[in-house]
Amino acid sequence: MQGIPTNIKLLSFSKKGLIFSQIFSVKDFPRINEIVTNPNDKITVDLSFFIENNRIPCIEGNVKLEVALDCQRCLTEVKLQLNPVFKLAFIIHENQADELDDSFETILNADEEFSTIEFITDEVLITIPMIPMHSHDCQSYKDKSPIMEQKRENPFAVLEQLKNSNRSQ
Ligand SMILES: [Zn+2]
Repeated sequence: MQGIPTNIKLLSFSKKGLIFSQIFSVKDFPRINEIVTNPNDKITVDLSFFIENNRIPCIEGNVKLEVALDCQRCLTEVKLQLNPVFKLAFIIHENQADELDDSFETILNADEEFSTIEFITDEVLITIPMIPMHSHDCQSYKDKSPIMEQKRENPFAVLEQLKNSNRSQ
């Protein structure tokens, strides 16, 4: 098994039926690293390339990672196990989708060559919840710290600032 090249060459890899497996660190993926707090944890990536119906390049992938995020209910760390799996068919005409079974997700007019890191990042980001929370019933930070209520700014003061900044432009 070989490591994944920096750039994916779609047609060439698919024709050769290449299979890759590599262990990355979270920090190798800048856009993921930006939103999580565990830069040194591992991301395992398996990719296999193949041709469907003699001409449609496809990528099947399996990614495993753990992300540490701030729970939006209690504001302490929550760790989530993610396992993005995908089976993508890269088509040139929309009607090519009819030749494929439902297990494929179709991508129209992709570049022939693209960044491996950016590609995997996109597949991982869609599996990260927008509002991460503990699966157990954690206590809301609002209930724990009533002082925060008092510190909250007068919303009209913020509105006033906005008006002023608009005026100065
Ligand atoms: Zn929580």
